[in-house]
Amino acid sequence: MQHLTHFYINGSWQAPHGNECLEVVDPATEVACASVPRATQEDIDAAVHAARQALPSWAATPASERHDLLMAAAKEMQRRYDELRDAHVLTVGSPIEMAGAIHVDGPIEGMQYYAERASRMEEVEQRGSVSLVREPIGVCALINPWNYPLHQLIGKLAPALAAGCTVVAKPAEQTPLQDFIMAEIFEEVGLPPGVFNLVTGVGSDIGPIMAAHSDVDMISFTGSTRAGVQVAENAAPTVKRVCQELGGKSPLVITENADLEAAVRLGVENVMANTGQTCDAFTRMLVPRALLKDAAALAGNIAREQVVGDPKRPGTTMGPVVSERQKSIVQHFIRRGLEEGATLVEGGLDAPDHLDRGYYVRPTIFSDVKNDMEIAQEEIFGPVLCLLGYDSIDEAIEIANDTIYGLSSAVYARDVNEALPIARRIQAGQCYLQEAEFSFEAPFGGYKQSGNGREFGEEGLLEYVEIKSIIGT
Ligand code: NAD
Repeated sequence: MQHLTHFYINGSWQAPHGNECLEVVDPATEVACASVPRATQEDIDAAVHAARQALPSWAATPASERHDLLMAAAKEMQRRYDELRDAHVLTVGSPIEMAGAIHVDGPIEGMQYYAERASRMEEVEQRGSVSLVREPIGVCALINPWNYPLHQLIGKLAPALAAGCTVVAKPAEQTPLQDFIMAEIFEEVGLPPGVFNLVTGVGSDIGPIMAAHSDVDMISFTGSTRAGVQVAENAAPTVKRVCQELGGKSPLVITENADLEAAVRLGVENVMANTGQTCDAFTRMLVPRALLKDAAALAGNIAREQVVGDPKRPGTTMGPVVSERQKSIVQHFIRRGLEEGATLVEGGLDAPDHLDRGYYVRPTIFSDVKNDMEIAQEEIFGPVLCLLGYDSIDEAIEIANDTIYGLSSAVYARDVNEALPIARRIQAGQCYLQEAEFSFEAPFGGYKQSGNGREFGEEGLLEYVEIKSIIGT
């Protein structure tokens, strides 16, 4: 059991003002595996103050120095790869053989990606006699969820630091460990004091303080739509910039000309990865009605390939969901699917065989789902896939867009040429064609209630930038 007792504020490890701590639970054993301090208003004030003090000199640092520091941090992340991976095995329940690829490789690449883009801050765009210069927005509060904790942190932190902003980071209660490792890494590489500050605590009490803080210029939030709305409300009186990455209910449209088995495999594996706790997972699979039975049978077989169990054991492909609360949410939705009359193809409410301890859920496939059912509209955030039939491409697009969300989407057709026109009609921030994979060049973010703003790509850097027009140059 790891007892972490101090926050990282102003370049040193500082004792909290209060004396409460929070337990972190290993979801595979239901036993506490770490504790972290619970921040109060005074701790947030101290962290924000440190970030404010550090801002002028960090913002004025030559981009080449910021580049070098981010590259040094990426190198140190590589050196401490196993510790970062194991933090995800322990707290997210990510299978050990996959956790590095899923949770650590991308963040290292992300750190390098934005290191290379620090120089963009020194570019001046000339429009006649108007010069456009880029300046960092200022002090940024970063609030993250538990499903991809390092990926979410780096998606905000790397562009913020590259832009010359200073930050106060708050990880989710369930998954704070990788943030402490990152604080040690920044200490090791010599990031100036106050540029990166880390606090831990309960989101519903310190989140509003961070969002409302008059010395915070921007808040970047990833999490539920419910909390994202509260962040925007709390941020409004100080007119700070708000970036929200929220929920999703993303469709995968499979056309009648697609290789059905390959398309269904892609869809099932996409949803089951990270035990279904992926905000942009393709949780609604849209299939031509004549192929729905075949697709359901394939999906059931592919779901059965999952090896559910102890994430620390080699061979496991699916660990538990993150918490008891998450397990009961997922089970609620499985129950609702059964009550609403969807066909249960695989999985269901029972615990997976031989797993009476840990927050395990069976990989679950529902077919004959109607888009007005709760399981088709609500984000389940667990290993549950819904198959829906459609009669025409127009109807498929109508179903795809019939959601309050618009985070991601996918089209699997005969080829890219057939998929592209369909992609253009889907209301979502991203659309993956065929077997396409995640890319840092692809800005990520939502239409509709999936959020505001973009992470990754050049656009991810621009979130942390103010554009100043100098007129008469
Ligand atoms: P959550 O909103 O409860 O928690 C997310 C973070 O917000 C945590 O750090 C939490 O402490 C904090 N928080 C909670 N209440 C807050 C408040 N009032 N003000 C400020 N911060 C607050 O979400 P969750 O249930 O833990 O996470 C799952 C949700 O996150 C899902 O809905 C999922 O879709 C979403 N998510 C979205 C993305 C994305 O990029 N769009 C990525 C991951 C997760």
